[in-house]
Amino acid sequence: MLDQSPPAAPGFLANSSTRVRRHNRRVLLHALRVHGALSRAELARTTGLTPQAVANIVEDLIGAGLVREAGRRKSPRGQPPIAIEIAKEGGYAVGVRIDATHFHAVAADLSGELIEMGEGLAPAGTDSGWLEFVAGIQAGFAARFGAERCLGLGLVTPGPFDIEWPGVPTPGAIPALQRRGVADELAAMTGTDVFLENDATAAALGERLYGAARDLNDFFYVFIGEGVGGGIVIRGEPYRGSRGNAGEFGHLIVDPNGAQCYCGNRGCLGEYLSLRTMRRFIAEAVSSGETEAGALDAWITRGADALATGLANVENLFDPEVVILGGAAPAPFLSRLADSLGDLRASVRQDRGRDRLRVSNLGERSAALGASALPILWATTAGLRLDR
Ligand SMILES: [Zn+2]
Repeated sequence: MLDQSPPAAPGFLANSSTRVRRHNRRVLLHALRVHGALSRAELARTTGLTPQAVANIVEDLIGAGLVREAGRRKSPRGQPPIAIEIAKEGGYAVGVRIDATHFHAVAADLSGELIEMGEGLAPAGTDSGWLEFVAGIQAGFAARFGAERCLGLGLVTPGPFDIEWPGVPTPGAIPALQRRGVADELAAMTGTDVFLENDATAAALGERLYGAARDLNDFFYVFIGEGVGGGIVIRGEPYRGSRGNAGEFGHLIVDPNGAQCYCGNRGCLGEYLSLRTMRRFIAEAVSSGETEAGALDAWITRGADALATGLANVENLFDPEVVILGGAAPAPFLSRLADSLGDLRASVRQDRGRDRLRVSNLGERSAALGASALPILWATTAGLRLDR
């Protein structure tokens, strides 16, 4: 189950009535998102807010178009209570996932349902061109669905952020967007709240809102794409580390004498699992006379072995409920990789058997869905800390 008891407004915010109001609105929306429609009395019991506070906030949210009265419930005696539910159409969020070659853009309503999606080639442009490109996507959605109902823009791109590492460009990353300041600049350009996240962390949050992690609070997400990344969710919140760069699963060392990684180390997991290295591996095998199918088999066998090592390390470090395998790689490919893992290595999770691993079915759009999840989770989850 998701965390069902969001904390009340912290005392240090008590002198800021706007922030308390905003917090309490999120407490109520969180309860409605987790439990579905609830009466005012049930909302008070679930959230710990007083009935008067609940009545005020519900009125406030109805006025803002974010919730509505869903009609009366059947009740054995007395006046049946009126159920309050999230008004899906009350707001929408935009999610953009962009790397050096492609972009996916989605709009989702307040309940997390997709209302539009698109994709295309990324522009080959200058530093400022990237921001303008993303702002243009946002402007298109605002023109179609209304700027005032927009909950925010989630922008997702490969990290790492704000560091000069690994010294050479990360495959697929856009250097102009690998800094936290981008969120403020885009917010000023678009007039909407902007949430910036790396693709693996965003995809993990997308799984929590839409996919395989809806029932999970503590999990690790493996992102396999051009590179390999990881998203850590602890108690329902993303764990980012000091600069938003936690979870660099692709640079977990699985063989100190292994293949040279672009980061400078040897035997990084990404060298055995990324789509980039897979293409190189298969091209080399085919040029030396092997069949493409045979080369793919060999690559998956080798990759599964490296992944098994990485998974045991992650499990021993975090003791997650589940590890989810996903990313920009096609779903059938991920399933094949999971099937090739065989018996997982021993770890603190070995009592769970094969239940230790789930394969995402969100497909290549997972990170864009995760991007749109950022403003929705921000609007509807009390206590959630996101970078804005
Ligand atoms: Zn590396």
